[in-house]
Amino acid sequence: MSGLNRELEGLLSFEGEACGVDGCGPVGGERDMAALRDAEQGGAAQVGQAAAGAKPARPILPGATIGVLGGGQLGRMLAHAGSRMGYRFVALDPTPDAPCGQTAEQIVAGYADRDAARELARRSDVITYEFENVDADVAAMLETESYVPQGSALLHTTQHRLREKRAIEAAGARVAPYAEIASLADLQEAVARLGLPAVLKTATGGYDGKGQWVLRGTDELAPAWDEASRAGTELVLEKFIDFEREISVIAARRLSGEIRTFPPAENIHVRNILHLSIVPARVPDAVIAEAERLAVSIAETLGAVGLIAVEMFVAKDGTLYVNELAPRPHNSGHYTMEACRTSQFEQHIRAICDLPLGDTSLLSPVVMGNILGEHVGPLLDWMQTHDAEADRLGVAPKIHLYGKAEAKTGRKMGHVNVLAADTAAALAWINESTIWRV
Ligand code: AMP
Repeated sequence: MSGLNRELEGLLSFEGEACGVDGCGPVGGERDMAALRDAEQGGAAQVGQAAAGAKPARPILPGATIGVLGGGQLGRMLAHAGSRMGYRFVALDPTPDAPCGQTAEQIVAGYADRDAARELARRSDVITYEFENVDADVAAMLETESYVPQGSALLHTTQHRLREKRAIEAAGARVAPYAEIASLADLQEAVARLGLPAVLKTATGGYDGKGQWVLRGTDELAPAWDEASRAGTELVLEKFIDFEREISVIAARRLSGEIRTFPPAENIHVRNILHLSIVPARVPDAVIAEAERLAVSIAETLGAVGLIAVEMFVAKDGTLYVNELAPRPHNSGHYTMEACRTSQFEQHIRAICDLPLGDTSLLSPVVMGNILGEHVGPLLDWMQTHDAEADRLGVAPKIHLYGKAEAKTGRKMGHVNVLAADTAAALAWINESTIWRV
C-alpha cells in the first residue's frame, strides 16, 4: 500500500460503517488493504463475485496509486485523466519509456513476469489492465494478491471468441451465425450450412483483422484451413454480415452496479484498422437506443466493472449483431476526450474506484481520426501552418500523440478529435486535409 493511501485509510468508508471525511477515525490502522477487502467481500477468492455486483467495495480515493498492466496509449490516457483527479500511476510494460511510462512510474518487465506483477501489486492500491490478452496465470495471481475490481472472469470470457459469443447471446444480443471449427470437414460442413461469404477466425489472439480469413469460394476452404490450423488455437467460422455500418458503444459499470453508456460511435476501418469514429453515428434513433440497451445488458450480464466496449454491425434492415467486446478503454471512445462531459478514461477510473459515474452527454459533434505511422510526418507539417480551411469550415482539430519512438506504417501513433457544428463539416475537413492522403 502506498504511504498516501495509508493516510487515506482513515477517510475511507466501509459497508455498514458510518464514515465521512471528517466524521470518523482510522479504520484498521496498519491492516493491509487486501485483508480488509477480504473481510468485506468474504475472501479474496470471491473478488470476482464482488465484481459481479454482490457487494460494493469501498471507494478508492485520490492519493491512491493505480497500477496499470500495460504501458501503451490507453494506459497513458488513463494516467492523464487520473492524475488530474489526484491519483498516482505505475505501469508494467516491457518497453522502456513506454507511452504510459512517460506520464507514470514504470516497471520495465514482460507481462508474464510474475515477480514484476507482484511488484506492481505491491506498489498499487488497485490494479487495472489496458489490454485483454493478460496472461491468465498473472491475472489469477494478481486477483488473489491485490485488488483487481475488474476481476479475471471477464478477461477469461473476452480472450476467447467462442466464450465471448456465448456470453453475448446469454445477454440477449445477436451475434453473426457461427460454428466451432476443429477440422477441414467441420469447415466444409459449416460453410454448407452458413453459406458464403464467411470469415474464419482464430478464437484467441487476433486483432485489427489479424488471424482472419475471408472465404468467398469453396476452393478457398482447404488453403485457409491449412494456414489457420497452424495458428495453434481453436477456430470459429462466422457468416459474413453484409452490414450497412459498424458502430460501437462503450458502457461503464461500477462495482455498486451503476451503468452509463457513451453515445454510439460509427466506425470506419481502412485495411482492418480503425480510421474514423463519427459521433453522432449516422443511424436511426431507434438503432442508437437499441445499441445502448444491448451494451447495458451485456455489461450487466457479464458483471463488468470498468469500461466495456461493444462493437456491433448494423445490418441493412437495422438488425444489430455484436461482433466483439473489449473490457477496457477503446480506440472508438477516444472522441469522448473533448466531445463528452466525461471522457472514457475518467469514467473507467471512476468505475474501478467505485465513484459515481460522470455525465456522458455529448458536448459537440465530432469525428475522431486515427494517426498511424504514415500520417505522423504530414501531421507535424500541418501543425506548423495556419489552417484557413479549418477556420472556413468552423472545425477545431485537437491533437493527441502517444509519445511512441518509432512511426511504423500501420502503428497507432495518435489521433485527432475534430470538433465541429456537425459531422459533415468535420468529415469535409478530414477529406481536404493532407494528413490522411497516404
Ligand atoms: P474483428 O477482429 O472481429 O473486429 O474484425 C475486424 C473487422 O473485420 C471488423 O471490424 C469488420 O469490418 C470485419 N468483419 C469481421 N467479422 C465480420 C463478419 N462476420 N461479417 C462482416 N465483416 C466482418
